[in-house]
Amino acid sequence: MATEGSCSLEFFPPKTNAGREKLLNETLPALADLNPEYCSITYGAGGSTRDTTVATVAAIADAGQDVAPHLSFGTDNRETMKGLLEEYQQQGVQRLVALRGDAPAGDGTPEKSCVYANELVSFIRETTGDHFNIKVAAYPEIHPEAVSYSHDVHFLKAKLDAGADAAVTQYFFNVESYFYFMDRCAAAGITQPIHPGIMPMTNFANLMRFSTACGAEVPRWIRQRMADFAEDPDSAYKFGIEVVSQLCSTLIDSGAPPIHFYTMNQAEPMRTIARNIGLLKGGDNHAGDQALQRSVA
Ligand code: FAD
Repeated sequence: MATEGSCSLEFFPPKTNAGREKLLNETLPALADLNPEYCSITYGAGGSTRDTTVATVAAIADAGQDVAPHLSFGTDNRETMKGLLEEYQQQGVQRLVALRGDAPAGDGTPEKSCVYANELVSFIRETTGDHFNIKVAAYPEIHPEAVSYSHDVHFLKAKLDAGADAAVTQYFFNVESYFYFMDRCAAAGITQPIHPGIMPMTNFANLMRFSTACGAEVPRWIRQRMADFAEDPDSAYKFGIEVVSQLCSTLIDSGAPPIHFYTMNQAEPMRTIARNIGLLKGGDNHAGDQALQRSVA
């Protein structure tokens, strides 16, 4: 059974053997003492990572973690999706992150294979009953395709009413957007937890690219400060840690549910942030620090 942990951690399925080795032998051991409630594994647009997601889920479960595969219909039909759910049930997986997902880049519009997340949640409940704990996605700064703010909150409620247990947000840096969103969700009658999703700033250029695509705003003051550090990666890194640690502390102090971290398969800066916000207590002598030191030696 799943136990309540201090946070949850998201990983993507590595494309190469080297990436897989690094995830399983370095990153995961280095983050294990954060005591995550579960580790979630992303699913490529249109089902493009199906095999690597399934393999990564199995490997992380073997390492003793509670795992939550992400999934979406993509171009799959109901029978294929049913087969994937059965496979996860047989593996002992008890959690899922249910998504509409996007079409693969350059491979047509999302509408072509669009099964909304509320429909996927209904399908999972119809086919597997209460077996899975289901999380869905939420957008404090509103999904880029949403007709309006209130439509997006309405469809989040539809996913939860269809049987999802909780939501995890897209990452954000404007903490006020999360607090306001929580108020709007409560006013709409949503009672399930909405876990803040937080992205450490590892590679600022990549972060800016993702953020434009997914509608998450990087505030001007952060962009301006990062521009100051364009030639100084150490200072950029320290600034990113400071901003994200402060954001997490504000969320924790406000009583937000456990944070979901988009780790990008990196143990650092995750460990430093975790230490700054009190998820890791004590000095540098944790098993995770030792794993990290071995990996860089
Ligand atoms: P939905 O909830 O279906 O919403 C999509 C859009 O349609 C929204 O604009 C919404 O307002 C609208 N809408 C919703 N329901 C209806 C309806 N019934 N009728 C009409 N309009 C509706 N992407 C990946 O490819 N792989 C991943 O592993 C992945 N993991 C993610 C994890 C988290 C925590 C988050 C926040 C996002 C993740 N994404 C992932 C991105 C996600 O797939 C995209 O944001 C996608 O565009 C929307 O998916 P969704 O499940 O939120 O869609």
